[in-house]
Amino acid sequence: MMRFSYRCSLCGREYPISPERLLCEDCSRRQEPGRPLSGILEVVLQGSAPGDWEIADLLPVEREWFPPIPVGNTPLWEPERLRRATGFPRLYLKDDSCNPTGSLKDRASALVAAFARREGIERIVVASTGNAGSSMCGVGAAAGLSVRLYLPAGAPAGKLVQSLQYGADVVRVDGTYDEASAQAMEYLRTHGGLSRNTGHNPMTIEGKKTVALEIFRQLGSGVPDYVFVPTGDGVILSGVYKGFEDLVSLGVADRTPAVVAVQAEGSQAITRALESGGFTDPVSSQTLADSISVDVPAAGYFAVERLRRHGGRALTVSDEAILSAQTELASGSGLFAEPAAAAAWAGFRAMEAEIPRDAAVVVLVTGNGLKDVKSAKKGVGIR
Ligand SMILES: *Cc1c(COP(=O)(O)O)cnc(C)c1O
Repeated sequence: MMRFSYRCSLCGREYPISPERLLCEDCSRRQEPGRPLSGILEVVLQGSAPGDWEIADLLPVEREWFPPIPVGNTPLWEPERLRRATGFPRLYLKDDSCNPTGSLKDRASALVAAFARREGIERIVVASTGNAGSSMCGVGAAAGLSVRLYLPAGAPAGKLVQSLQYGADVVRVDGTYDEASAQAMEYLRTHGGLSRNTGHNPMTIEGKKTVALEIFRQLGSGVPDYVFVPTGDGVILSGVYKGFEDLVSLGVADRTPAVVAVQAEGSQAITRALESGGFTDPVSSQTLADSISVDVPAAGYFAVERLRRHGGRALTVSDEAILSAQTELASGSGLFAEPAAAAAWAGFRAMEAEIPRDAAVVVLVTGNGLKDVKSAKKGVGIR
């Protein structure tokens, strides 16, 4: 049997798991404007995993609360032609674009929805630039939860249409993510519900850890040597680390992989913080990869601390490199990724000269190319 609690990722204070508790009481009071979230809570597992453990055993919400929608269990591709072209015979693509709403975000949404159902909460409120919102709307539809989404004006049309199709209450905000997020928080204060704002709800990092657990199982209880992770807010990156850390703490795995955060040149707050020693005033982000376009990364402190602790790396790629990575990946393997996801492939190509050829390399493909046709058109020269 496993026991679960929350622990502040900054000060270490522990809390029981409860939907009223999102951030550390002490550290969130010291939140500075224009900086990553202070006092993100992580889920702590105690106990030992049964020998025949399943992924659901390592999650803080029991399986009966999960909504009836097939999230996760995504395929690990063995892309033969890309393996030959790059000379990496142990190259893999973890295809999270085939989640029900087309992105890895479903992993977080599913756990948040399960948590809400267990706690008897009927409304979920989320501010998002795209995938987190459309994901919560789709998973919420499966779960029978009411979802209110605050969507900034710049979101790609596909992600807006998806959210509306799922029947969510969509509030289009004529402003940035920060404004959408402020409106969402105000609504929660006055009307109640559960926040699914990324990084803010501890279940978002925890839900995303399942991608690491699946990779481990798909490699036959193996830890890959490298995992390339497209990074904006740093929640996926934090989740990937959390999954491998849990396996190590349970004595199931003996190490964590080398994790590489891949960012767009025009949105590189985490890379900058890792290299310079800390977060400074936000720089306005500029990249066509909308899912990794972030001024202030919500999970920035968490992600940078993990990169430091485990000797991870961060690198940046240009928008041109992202567009050519998108077509190279699609035409070389049959996997059509949205620009943010293609960034991970671009990151691998940028770093491949430093990687031993026999290394097991996993590139995390986080979202489907059809989500943003406007950007994809640029890569194939049509308007
Ligand atoms: C959200 C998202 C990312 C980045 O995840 P963060 O947690 O913001 O770093 C990358 N790719 C896709 C497709 C996404 O939706």
